[in-house]
Amino acid sequence: MIDPLANSYYAATAHEWPAHPDIVGDHACDVAVIGGGFTGLSAALACAERGFSVILVEAEHVGFGASGRNGGQLIPGLRWSVSELEAEFGRERSDALFDLCWRQNRVKARIEKHGIACDLKVGHLEAAWTPKDFDAMRREADYLAKRRSYETDVITKAEMGAHIESPLYHGGIHDLQGGHFHPLNYAIGLAKAAEAAGVRILEGQRANWILDRTGGELFLGESTIETRYFIDATDSWIGDLEPDLGRYTVPIMNYNIATAPLPNADALLPSDAAVADSRFVLNYFRLSADKRLIFGGGERYSQTPPRDIAAFVRPFMAEVFPQIADAPIDYGWGGAVAVTMKRLPHIGRRGNVFFAHGFSGHGALVTTLAGELIAEAMAGTAERFDVLAGLPSRPFPGGKWLRQPLATLGLLYYAMKDRLG
Ligand SMILES: Cc1cc2nc3c(=O)[nH]c(=O)nc-3n(C[C@H](O)[C@H](O)[C@H](O)COP(=O)(O)OP(=O)(O)OC[C@H]3O[C@@H](n4cnc5c(N)ncnc54)[C@H](O)[C@@H]3O)c2cc1C
Repeated sequence: MIDPLANSYYAATAHEWPAHPDIVGDHACDVAVIGGGFTGLSAALACAERGFSVILVEAEHVGFGASGRNGGQLIPGLRWSVSELEAEFGRERSDALFDLCWRQNRVKARIEKHGIACDLKVGHLEAAWTPKDFDAMRREADYLAKRRSYETDVITKAEMGAHIESPLYHGGIHDLQGGHFHPLNYAIGLAKAAEAAGVRILEGQRANWILDRTGGELFLGESTIETRYFIDATDSWIGDLEPDLGRYTVPIMNYNIATAPLPNADALLPSDAAVADSRFVLNYFRLSADKRLIFGGGERYSQTPPRDIAAFVRPFMAEVFPQIADAPIDYGWGGAVAVTMKRLPHIGRRGNVFFAHGFSGHGALVTTLAGELIAEAMAGTAERFDVLAGLPSRPFPGGKWLRQPLATLGLLYYAMKDRLG
């Protein structure tokens, strides 16, 4: 796979991870994991901890996909608010979702358990683009405090200076359960932990076929893997392997930049929180450990990346932080966010194939949990897995060729509404 999007700050500051080439021949295991992002690595590690023999196959290298190039924002929960979940699914199901997706921080637990050095920082700020957005945030914070005993700080417009030096926002919610990290170094740390637990990792190998759903073989060029269970953790690429699952997501290209280290970095984001704003096509940003601003903004519905990613993202950054409009930009990269119709992840099991994909821009935190729940279900306890697997899902309309254009039309509509206020 040629990667035009690889000029990333994360790749430039990645911890050492030697290439893990395939060993040609026939292999056997209990569980074959396809995809070396957070979902696949977490599932592989958790399966090995439960005593399964595991082989993980990655087409490129560990963290090649969204996991190694995202904004690094650890945002508690799902794309839907807890009150939206309760309105749709009732108290009992929304409680179960809340306990898993808001209360559990499996990323922090993994970082602590395995001593993963990935610049973890505490604090996430959701910044209101309009006064109406702020009113909705305030109501949700109140609801979370009263009905779920989940405390967040409501930050008024006048108080926003403690978190962000930008006049744009109308207030926000600061959540100490959230935070940010270096995603590629987290992926590498998970991979090292998985190897230490006995997982065999093969890189540079594109798995091309799952033979059947009752156990079977995985073909990798000249090798095969015979296995009892498969875990399909290929996210944006899932349709290549399983065309039917591919109907549930569309890939939306999203771009990030990292400035040069900034002398005034701490003034821009005094509390060092990660920030995501409430626009439909959101801006999200944070400081790196070496005081660069890492900024994501703008989406492109075409799969072709802009010729100059820095020039594409800079205006979004300049709108939020006019004081650094001309700051040097050292890196610009991008990746595909796999988005579902409902903006909720699509997780499940078909025969002996487990899958989890379509985290819709909220995957940095929940993918680790999803991988662990797959291992739990495989070992025989599916109760918690079923909470996520029970989330509603619907394929995008349109066949292979129309799906993306139709989804794009819908997304453009919301982006336009955003612009019109
Ligand atoms: C630019 C960008 C910014 C984002 N920012 C955030 C953020 O700040 N916060 C947040 O919560 N979420 C964010 N996300 C989303 C988040 O990164 C993803 O939800 C999450 O990383 C998905 O992890 P995954 O393991 O499921 O998939 P991936 O990390 O994409 O892993 C899939 C892997 O499968 C491999 N693969 C594919 N096909 C095959 C095959 N046939 N054989 C073998 N291997 C294969 C790929 O090479 C890839 O490494 C962002 C995503 C992008 C792209």
